[in-house]
Amino acid sequence: MKKIQMVDLNGQYHAIKEQVNDSIANILETSAFINGSDVKEFQKELEEYLGVKHVIPCGNGTDALQIAMMGLGLKAGDEVITADFTFAATVEVIALLQLTPVLVDVEPDTFNIDVAAIERAITSKTKAIVPVHLFGQCANMDAILELAEKHKLYVIEDNAQAIGANHTFKDGKKQKAGTMGHVGSTSFFPSKNLGCYGDGGAIFTNDDDLAHTLRGIVNHGMYLRYHHDVVGVNSRLDSIQAAVLRAKLPKLDEYCSARRNAAKKYNKAFEGQEHIVTPKTVNGCSGICDTCDCHVFHQYTLKITNGKRDALVEHFKENGIPCGVYYPIPLHRQKAYLDNRYNEADFPVTNQLVKEVISLPMHTELDDEQINHITSLVIDFVNG
Ligand SMILES: *Cc1c(COP(=O)(O)O)cnc(C)c1O
Repeated sequence: MKKIQMVDLNGQYHAIKEQVNDSIANILETSAFINGSDVKEFQKELEEYLGVKHVIPCGNGTDALQIAMMGLGLKAGDEVITADFTFAATVEVIALLQLTPVLVDVEPDTFNIDVAAIERAITSKTKAIVPVHLFGQCANMDAILELAEKHKLYVIEDNAQAIGANHTFKDGKKQKAGTMGHVGSTSFFPSKNLGCYGDGGAIFTNDDDLAHTLRGIVNHGMYLRYHHDVVGVNSRLDSIQAAVLRAKLPKLDEYCSARRNAAKKYNKAFEGQEHIVTPKTVNGCSGICDTCDCHVFHQYTLKITNGKRDALVEHFKENGIPCGVYYPIPLHRQKAYLDNRYNEADFPVTNQLVKEVISLPMHTELDDEQINHITSLVIDFVNG
């Protein structure tokens, strides 16, 4: 059996090696390291793929979120509602901009932000909602966009984990993750579904004025050389990363489908297991189907409901198989983000999830032998 890895970047590299090596060699020869033609081409290609008017490449997914919030002109003290169960970057940039993060609970089946909890958290100071499309599946965007419109709030999609996923609206219309709100962000961190070979990120919007503002912010607030109209940052996608992404983007749908196939096999193996809950796929389809592209499985996350999650993690370790616990501590209990407004009783789902979730190896190169090995390990241990 091939060694099981949490993500297999090397396998993907070998399939695009020639193109990547040639493009990088070309960049090295021309020395167009920053703002080279690959960056502009990648921007256009991603706009086309996503069906969005503007892609603004930047340095990483955390910057993308921060710049999105700066571009919307959010001010110190404005409240921004986001999920308690996500990677810290989401809440970090809110706090960094001296906005007030307001964490709310998530749904037990999709792990995504709970719309009823958002509604309860809205005050006169609320200015934005940040849904995180966690683990590769969109949050309930129908309800979130409706709520945002009713309360005149911005919607900033943290799409670091769901690039390529589709959301099917109630009326049947489909849109790509990250392009439904006022602005969306993504990360090209190597292990993300569309990863480069270093750091990278991008911001998406259909709003021409906002796009213009964002393009200035990523470049020191300059709209005219050496005229600094707003406070900006220095956040760029470099040419080498753009070249890698250009080689990978045409394969993104293939990558997503390989992940979905692995997820299907995992689901099948865990069918009927009393203490193992497989991830729920919503959004217009009842299972994992090939036609709707609604889940791109950045993570394949189980819930172990008989209290053996921690022991299972140890068991994985003893067997030399990687696994992950995303996320072990709710953000509302992280020292940096403690707030008197939070009440433990408001986070029943996150508080439970942190004890039950385990993410299995998930990437485009998993084979049947590896999947069988992993699923047997889980089933035997959980029932043992
Ligand atoms: C990875 C990630 C980020 C940050 O992306 P970086 O490129 O690592 O800065 C933000 N939000 C979520 C949900 C992520 O998973």
